[in-house]
Amino acid sequence: MPDAASPEKPRPPFWRVLHWQILMALGLGVLFGAALRIGGVPEPTSFAGGVIDVASWLGSLVLRLLKMVVIPLTTISIIVGTARLGRGSKIEDAGGTRSPARLFGWTIGSFLVTSLAAAILGFVFATLAEPGAGSVEVEGIESAQGAEGASLYGVLLRIVPTNLFEALADGDILALIFVSVCLGLAIPRIDRKRGEALIETLDSLLDVVMVVTQAVLRVLPIGVFGLMVAMVATQGFDRFEQLGRYALVLIAGIAVHALVVLPLLGRLLGGREMRVPRASVGTAVLTAFSTSSSAATIPVTKAALTEKAGVSEETASFVVPLGATVNMDATAMHQCVVAVFLCQVLGIELTAAMSVTLVLVAVLASVGAAGIPSAGITLIFLVMQTLDVEGPEVDALVGLILVVDRPLDMLRTVGNVYSDTVVAAVVDRRSANSIS
Ligand code: ASP
Repeated sequence: MPDAASPEKPRPPFWRVLHWQILMALGLGVLFGAALRIGGVPEPTSFAGGVIDVASWLGSLVLRLLKMVVIPLTTISIIVGTARLGRGSKIEDAGGTRSPARLFGWTIGSFLVTSLAAAILGFVFATLAEPGAGSVEVEGIESAQGAEGASLYGVLLRIVPTNLFEALADGDILALIFVSVCLGLAIPRIDRKRGEALIETLDSLLDVVMVVTQAVLRVLPIGVFGLMVAMVATQGFDRFEQLGRYALVLIAGIAVHALVVLPLLGRLLGGREMRVPRASVGTAVLTAFSTSSSAATIPVTKAALTEKAGVSEETASFVVPLGATVNMDATAMHQCVVAVFLCQVLGIELTAAMSVTLVLVAVLASVGAAGIPSAGITLIFLVMQTLDVEGPEVDALVGLILVVDRPLDMLRTVGNVYSDTVVAAVVDRRSANSIS
């Protein structure tokens, strides 16, 4: 799997590191945009107007590239993830110290509970704090009305496609997730050898899509620059306050989840005597923060759990690699905060059906997210599409979110990895054969 964290490689100069490039693009974009605005908002027919057109074209191009990788990345990742889960459920009891059925059941159950709790927390925080309030009037949103009218029954019905190829062509992500889960569940039920071979092949395909995604992420700074120039030149600094509030809501949400909700859930699921990992997993948390990648943190998380937190090798080997792809609490929370924020900015009221859909899709999308830097931002389009909130204005706002994403991604990864350690501790207690 391609990734940034390779200890042998010499450190590249800072200007070649993606997050610095994004920050530099942001700063330059603000300066350029502000310069174009000197003397008032540029006329569309003026030279400055032409520059703005080119800048927003560049931004749109990069956003399209991001959208391009969403469906292959999510669907293949869900098929492989579900197939692995299914394979895990078929581990035979070799008479060891842990019961495979309990190991599997507690892992999946705890993953679901923690991710769902995070998504709901994000939704509630963003709804109460209203980071997108005080919006400037916006135009160009497609089909939002359709979504407002959609009922929960309608949404549930739409999950099952009548024609898989139509779903693929329309990018109907709910239907695609459903089909991916079905395929993933079916793979472990076919002949073992062929099933393994298929998982291997899909895994290789996923690696290929990851390489493309990494390449797309390399051009992200260009998109950020273009979007920033266009936004500052046309709208000034109106959006920055909202963006700051959005970031604060997410940071507060991740902090409350990690410091309050996860320890509580840990005790609830693992029993009152369970020791919730804290300082013992500090190295894993720090590695997550610096690499922005749950996948790259796997060896450190496993070592911290087995060497310092007293979790068995057996449990850590099962929970940690799986958790790094499937259990992404902070990523699920992020999707909810972004979606609520965007709807507030766009003046769209979330109906009950849309809210339930949002929380569910956020959890599913987080399952489909890869444990690599910036994986979360590619999912935003998917979530907004499920809510039927689309259009150029949505793209521009997503571009804005993208601009501040790197530091938030570092915190998200911390939230994701910490959740894996809490789940591992729960599972370790619950799957031991001596515990009933
Ligand atoms: N970078 C995160 C992780 O690896 C995923 C995300 O972008 O939310 O856990």
